[in-house]
Amino acid sequence: MIDETTQKDLVKALGERVQFDAPMSRHTSLRIGGPADALATPADRQELAALLEICRRRGLRRTIIGAGFNCLVADQGIDGVVITLRKFRGLEERPGPTVYAEAGVSHSAVTRFCVERGLSGMEFAAGIPGTVGGWIMMNAGIGVREQKDVALELGFVTSENTEEEIRKTSTLDFRYRELRGLPEDAVVVSALFALELSSREEVKAEVDRLLSHRSATQPLDVPSCGSVFRNPEGDFAGRLIEAAGLCGERVGGAEISAVHANFIANLGGARAADVLDLIERARTRVLDACGVELQTEVHLVGRSE
Ligand SMILES: Cc1cc2nc3c(=O)[nH]c(=O)nc-3n(C[C@H](O)[C@H](O)[C@H](O)COP(=O)(O)OP(=O)(O)OC[C@H]3O[C@@H](n4cnc5c(N)ncnc54)[C@H](O)[C@@H]3O)c2cc1C
Repeated sequence: MIDETTQKDLVKALGERVQFDAPMSRHTSLRIGGPADALATPADRQELAALLEICRRRGLRRTIIGAGFNCLVADQGIDGVVITLRKFRGLEERPGPTVYAEAGVSHSAVTRFCVERGLSGMEFAAGIPGTVGGWIMMNAGIGVREQKDVALELGFVTSENTEEEIRKTSTLDFRYRELRGLPEDAVVVSALFALELSSREEVKAEVDRLLSHRSATQPLDVPSCGSVFRNPEGDFAGRLIEAAGLCGERVGGAEISAVHANFIANLGGARAADVLDLIERARTRVLDACGVELQTEVHLVGRSE
């Protein structure tokens, strides 16, 4: 709960860009999640700085989400303020060629931008849904290429320092679906990507090829959060879950997809508890059947039971 004085502070700083008791099911790709005490969508860096200052001064817990494509939010919701940078949408070509993108720019906007200008290097990310902030923090990628291979620099702010600090990505520690080396409370506000000049046709052809491959291999017609588990070294979580006989396993409205066993789909009305139940089943059955301990890739966010 956020007390009334703090609520007034938040409204004074952000106006209608802060909502209270905001259902997170509307802000996650799984369409699951109870209410956040507050959901703040700052318009710009100034508002973000004011918001971070209020959170710091009032001791409010804060959670950053991009577009919620990799988040499983608890049915009980989220304490404190959820911050989303969806209004940070600056996107421009710079010398190099490089592309500067603010954290809230969507995957489809980046892809379209690169196709239109014939800029190559980011095709791999075409179908990785989310925002630039989420891409960077997750080091999002596919087998052959990840954000670390294209991101040159990133800009971030923290509660203590709301002036944007630019870091070369070579000074950071990108790992499989995670980024280490930033302060724990860093909010990524921008990134600069190094690309290569190509032609519109070539970039589009590669994007189309990758998108068709996704459509053929992933259940894109139902709400999901993509891969639930990280692939263990030298293997695929989906293969192990399938081998453990879990395809089509259901709890409530959630189902382990028969199209891609590392996806859990919300068939309608699924709760976070249903998904967590399936996650536990998959972990236990894969451990029993294959001796491998699966680790979650999806971020579990919010109040625990
Ligand atoms: C159908 C489908 C297919 C997918 N395929 C892939 C794939 O091929 N490869 C892959 O890597 N992923 C894949 N994903 C997962 C997802 O697309 C990526 O993890 C993506 O990077 C999430 O971006 P987001 O903006 O939605 O981040 P969110 O899910 O909102 O957030 C992810 C994490 O990043 C943090 N975060 C987000 N923005 C910021 C910021 N500005 N500052 C600080 N922290 C921030 C959040 O706190 C959270 O911990 C898939 C998901 C779906 C639904």
